[in-house]
Amino acid sequence: MASDDEINLLVIVVDVNPIWWGQQAQREPEFTLSKCLDAVLVLGNSHLAMSRTNKLAVIASHCQGSHFLYPSKNSKTGTNDEEDSPSSGDGKYELLSVANNTIAEEIRNLMSNIEVRGNLTDTLLAGSLAIALCYINRVAKELEAGQEMKTRILVVKAADDSTLQYMNYMNVIFAAQKKNILIDACVLASDSGLLQQACDITGGLYLKIPQKVALAQYLLWVFLPDGDQRSQLVLPPPVHVDYRAACFCHRNLIEIGYVCSVCLSIFCNFSPICTTCDTAFKIQLPQIVKAKKKKPKMT
Ligand SMILES: [Zn+2]
Ligand SMILES: [Zn+2]
Repeated sequence: MASDDEINLLVIVVDVNPIWWGQQAQREPEFTLSKCLDAVLVLGNSHLAMSRTNKLAVIASHCQGSHFLYPSKNSKTGTNDEEDSPSSGDGKYELLSVANNTIAEEIRNLMSNIEVRGNLTDTLLAGSLAIALCYINRVAKELEAGQEMKTRILVVKAADDSTLQYMNYMNVIFAAQKKNILIDACVLASDSGLLQQACDITGGLYLKIPQKVALAQYLLWVFLPDGDQRSQLVLPPPVHVDYRAACFCHRNLIEIGYVCSVCLSIFCNFSPICTTCDTAFKIQLPQIVKAKKKKPKMT
């Protein structure tokens, strides 16, 4: 009974950065945001169809915030959509069409309302991951006694990394690790050191797909099986993880730096006072040896 009733929650975070997707539409007209979302829908539907107890959430991440595409705040379908749907005899198909319609409607509303203001062009992925964790926590609290839940987050990443979000990423990654939540990453364009670390630390899979147009295939083959099933599959080999950290002073990625012994902040330059926790370091300055006047030896 326990294994049949186990809830498997998949949270998909999709990078819908309007600037990146705008440029992408010019570079490769055959792979646009709507094609990417189609592939995400295929994965979402497959996940929901695998088991009655599987649950899905989709979050769009853009340069001003995050937005739940599914379950949606506006529609009546909450997390308990199965129970709410009028005809439970044919529930599965209905659930899929409800999910697809909700996601399509939400993304239309979202994309027509995004205004790109100023120079905020980075996707706020770390924030979306934090929202995903909060959502998972909420669902976990609503479980009935004795119910088990497996959770994972899949990030479909498009735009480049932003080292400004380094701290936020690290907090999210370690929170996920503590809660046993896998973070998977499917990267469309340039490699992401921050997501490589996220996947490595939480035990998830990181894959930069070689062909964007085949996104649906990669999602189904690599990211549909959950953590337990993966041990029986031959999956793409693990990548070399870029473990460089971003310094707190300039947000540059550095390999060797100075670390505050109190708060573990990282700096690329030495400073006598830690700018994060205000600790003053007692440092041993090189002693200036004064040349002693040589006394003339008396003979
Ligand atoms: Zn620095
Ligand atoms: Zn410090």
